[in-house]
This record gives sequence, structure tokens and C-alpha cells, in this order.
Amino acid sequence: MTARALLFAIFLAGGAAAGWVLQGQLGALLGMAAGAALWFAIDSFQATRVLRWLRTGQLRGAPTVGGWWGEAAHRARRALALREEQKEDAERRLEAFLDAIRTSPNGVVLLDPEGRIEWCNQTAAGHFGLDPARDLQQHVVHLLRDPGFSGFYHGGSYAHDVVIPAPGSTSASARRLALHLHPYGEGRLLLLSRDVTAVEQAETMRRDFVANVSHEIRTPLTVLSGFVETLESLDLPKEERGRYLRLMAQQAQRMQTLVSDLLTLSRLEGSPLPGANDWTPAITLLSQAEQEARGMGKALGKPALQVRFAPAPPVAIGGAASELQSAISNLVGNAVRYTPDAGTIEVGLQPAEGSRWELFVRDTGPGISAEHLPRLTERFYRVDRSRSRETGGTGLGLAIVKHVVQRHGGELKVTSVQGTGSTFSILLPATRVRPLDTTPADTPAQPATESTAG
Ligand code: ADP
Repeated sequence: MTARALLFAIFLAGGAAAGWVLQGQLGALLGMAAGAALWFAIDSFQATRVLRWLRTGQLRGAPTVGGWWGEAAHRARRALALREEQKEDAERRLEAFLDAIRTSPNGVVLLDPEGRIEWCNQTAAGHFGLDPARDLQQHVVHLLRDPGFSGFYHGGSYAHDVVIPAPGSTSASARRLALHLHPYGEGRLLLLSRDVTAVEQAETMRRDFVANVSHEIRTPLTVLSGFVETLESLDLPKEERGRYLRLMAQQAQRMQTLVSDLLTLSRLEGSPLPGANDWTPAITLLSQAEQEARGMGKALGKPALQVRFAPAPPVAIGGAASELQSAISNLVGNAVRYTPDAGTIEVGLQPAEGSRWELFVRDTGPGISAEHLPRLTERFYRVDRSRSRETGGTGLGLAIVKHVVQRHGGELKVTSVQGTGSTFSILLPATRVRPLDTTPADTPAQPATESTAG
């Protein structure tokens, strides 16, 4: 203020002095008026430049003027720079926010108060088969033609979600979407979509599993309680009682096997993958399986069943020995159970293509028709339910084998011709098989054995 007043005074004094020199007292007065007019003209010129620049609203092009107007321009420039910075910051944040929504695994659609699509992310576009550019401003109910969704949308109560078949999904690849609507802003809606196909499948599998286990346990339990009732109510001769007790023991054994298989499966699912630091000679695993096969053949009354084990190659297998043993024994056990007396079973370990090793169990049993092969390793899947039960099967054996093989990085292969026989092969990667150490602890390779089970 002082500087401005001082400058004005200098202009007046300058004008007065010049007028005085030229015209005396009157000249001084006129000179003062001329000084004031000049000051006013210069000030207005500066004000006009500043105002013209302010009207552009741009940070660039600020005039370089002094005095009050210079300071006003300087402050305005700072305010503009700050606003620009805040705008850029807000834009960056909005972009980061949109990026997060774009990459969200859930579909996000913004609807205007009329229900038209304002924006959607790529996931939503995939879920609903939308084109994010073409379908903007389309009414959501016109694009999502599902009675469940229209009812939900028009119902106005969005506390729960609705599950609909994904548009365009076929019965072969039926996908299911869970949809949520959340009101926001002034009458707008946020539509969220989530693919729940896998969740629903897992839930169905869990329900089926519980139903299967209950059914498997209920059958022997019913038989057992029937026998208990009979023994309680009837005074049976000793021989008859003995027969009943043997049948009861069989049913109890069946339940025990089932529970033990279930525990094996749950252990396999819950435990960490087996490392390759524990090595078991192939001969150890194969001779144990051979002993079991012979015992089982006898127990099942198959005296003429030929069980041939090829000589075990001098290699060791890396992984969890108990799991590997259980997988091999399951395959050999199945071959013994399903192959009729006088049939032949061959077991061996040999190099296979791709530097892998193949542990094969070949039988001349009933074989399995092609349509059953893809489902054999499902829990409780049986081709011949009664034959499986008769021979003490739980329907879990191949599920266990598949789990074990996968945990060891291998593959279970089944080839079968109905009426001729089957071959079950465990294909192990080269990393799981190594030559046997020739240290004293190792057992030499066994000679080929061939015998009848009985
Ligand atoms: P199970 O306890 O019923 O044998 P698995 O999971 O071991 O259950 O086998 C599933 C089904 O595969 C069996 O019920 C049987 O129908 C069929 N199967 C398995 N191994 C053989 C085989 N060697 N020969 C014929 N069928 C077999």
C-alpha cells in the first residue's frame, strides 16, 4: 500500500515539478493532473493484462508486471498451480482406483439411475458377454435377459444375492454367476458379479461325498444291528451263532477298511508333497505287494490264479515309501480281486518313453468298457458295485492311487479291453527313480517269480 501511494506521489510530484518549470503555479497544477492521469493509465494497462490472463484460466502466459497487480498475478498463478497439481493428483488416484477395479476378479458394472450401463470392467464383460464400448448406455435388463435377475432388479430389495446361469454358457460348460446390487449415489446401482461355478461344484461334491460315506457305513451297520437283534432274541445253536459272528466280523472289517481308506485319503490331501530324499528299493515295494497278492488270492479262494512278478530292476524309488506301497498294493489287490481263478496277473517295473519308468499291473480279468475309464478314479465310483462289495472293495482304492501318483509327479494310465483284461500303469518321472546304491544295506535284485496264488 505504502509503495503504491509512494509511486502515485512520485507521479504527482514529477508532474507538478515539470509543470512548475514550464508554466509556474498553474503549470504545477496541470502537471499534477497529468502525472495522476499517467499513473492511472499505467495502472489500468497492468490491470488489463492481468485480467486478460486470468480470463484464460491457464497457468501459462502470466504477465510480468510489478506492484499490486504483479503480486495479484503471482498469487493467482500459485493458486492455479496448486489446483492443477490437485487435479493431476485426483486423476492419478482415480486411474489407480479404476485399475484396481479393472483387475478385480469380480465383475463390476456401474448403472445410472435409469439402469443403463455407465461403465464395466473386463471381468463383468466376460461374465455377461458384454462389449464394454458397444454396450454402454444399454439397459442392463435388456442385456441380461434372465427372469431371476429381472425379478431381483425390479424387486428393489438388494439385501441378498441372486445366482443365475452365465449368459451364453451351455449345458456342457454350465457356468453360474452370483449377482449383488448395491445402491449408491443418487439412485445409482453397483452391480457385482462373481463366478461361483467352482464353489457350487465343490459344494455338490462335498454333499455327494457325505451322502456316499453315510451310505457305505449304513449298509454294514444295518446288517450288523440285524445280526445283533437276531442273536439277542433267538437262542441259536452254537454252530449257527458262530456263523452269525463270522458274518458280523466281516461287516465290522468292511467298516474298518472304509474308515482306514478315508483316513488315508484325508492324510494325502492334507500333508505336504513328498520330497525325493527318501529312496526305497523297488524290490522292497514289489515283494511286499507280491506277498499281499498271494495272501489275498488264498483268502478269496483262487488257487489257480497265476501271479507273476518280473524281476525288480536294481533301482530305488524316491518319495513316501508308505504311500508308494499303498498305491502298488491297491493296484495288485484290485487285479487279484477282479481276475477270476485261472486268470493271470503280471507285475513289473520297466523303463518307459520320455525317460520315465512304468510300474505296470496287467491282468486277464473282466476288463472295463471305455465309458467307465474316465471316471474310475472318482471316489466311490464302481463299475460293478456288487463285485466290488463281495471282494471287500471300498470304491476308494483308485482315488488313493491317483492321489499318490500325482503327489509323486507321476501319472496313472489305464488301458482295458472288456472281456480281455486291464493294465494299470504308474508312470514315474525320471527324477523319482535312480540306480540302486551298491552299499551293503541294499538287497540284490530278485529272480523272476511265478506262482499260483493258492
Ligand atoms: P473298489 O474298492 O471298488 O475296487 P477302486 O477304486 O479300487 O474301488 O476301483 C474302482 C472300480 O474300478 C472298481 O469298483 C472296479 O469296478 C474297477 N476296477 C478296478 N480295478 C479293476 C481291474 N483290475 N479289473 C476290472 N475292474 C477293475
